[in-house]
Amino acid sequence: MSQRYLVTGGAGFVGSHLVLALLRGGASVTVLDDLSTGHEAAVPKGARLVHGSVADPDALGRAFAEGPFEAVFHFASLTLVGESMREPVRYIAANVAGGAALVEACIRHRVARLVLSSTANLFSEPAKIPIDEDEAIIPGSPYGESKAMLERLLFWADRIHGLRSACLRYFNAAGADPDGEAGEDHRPETHLIPLVLDAAAGRRPPLIVFGDDYPTPDGTCIRDYIHVADLATAHLAVLEPLRTRSVRYNLGTGTGHSVREVIAAAEAVTGRSVPHTIGPRREGDPAVLIAASDRIRRELGWRPRFPALETIIAHAWAWRQRNPHGYR
Ligand code: UDP
Repeated sequence: MSQRYLVTGGAGFVGSHLVLALLRGGASVTVLDDLSTGHEAAVPKGARLVHGSVADPDALGRAFAEGPFEAVFHFASLTLVGESMREPVRYIAANVAGGAALVEACIRHRVARLVLSSTANLFSEPAKIPIDEDEAIIPGSPYGESKAMLERLLFWADRIHGLRSACLRYFNAAGADPDGEAGEDHRPETHLIPLVLDAAAGRRPPLIVFGDDYPTPDGTCIRDYIHVADLATAHLAVLEPLRTRSVRYNLGTGTGHSVREVIAAAEAVTGRSVPHTIGPRREGDPAVLIAASDRIRRELGWRPRFPALETIIAHAWAWRQRNPHGYR
């Protein structure tokens, strides 16, 4: 019988790409998603969708009735940094309550391994760049705080109940399935690469570059963009060590690109110009965030297959060209 996995938030951007990777490896997948931000059409064919929230005991019960699960992947959460700065209590309450309910269910159903979707937003005041796993956790927003709290909750769930967990801190997830079966479709869209591509396609007003007076070579913020398919393989790679121990890894390519570099790469890939203007800084944006992914490379042999920014943008562009209205 094939191995069975539960993916919460499997209708979302990173979650749906992990579901694809699991299905392509021959696994059976149950997705638990309330479709509040994810899309039913993003749940890959072959996965079973349980429609409901991780915080709803009835929905959790329906999802776990499909087990037993080899492992659980937890993506379902509120994810907008800016929104969390306006609604801190709602963000922390929802993400911690949902995660805690899921962890309780994992313990009750004797799930041995859990993978948490965590974030670079844990590191708002990095002492050095690139950022490694020994960096102090100083969340940059209530969103980041909610993930820090879940990481601590998982520490105790391991220590007391033996639930092994992997905390994967993504830097800037981007791109789309190289075979074109999934892509990025946030509503509202706040992420740089999809906004740049829609501006190039004339589907949105000109991009506003959030500040060009940062202490970086061209004055715009530098981020570490990682291909969503490479994030998916990292989730598969941690399953083996989770048989014996909990792990936490920072996930990026180790290379940073400025907003201006992203615009230039998008112009090269699309052959179109990206209309843009310079606006004020966005609150809470650090100048530079780059991951040191040496630990997962060294310990598990994981490598990004698509580290080049042009490839990441080309895959995102190809999906968007075929799906100009996203999953609608
Ligand atoms: N950015 C921008 N204009 C936009 C959206 C984003 O200049 O309309 C910049 C943002 O300031 C950051 C980078 O692009 O430096 C990546 O932002 P995104 O929201 O994609 O990811 P984040 O780094 O906030 O997780």
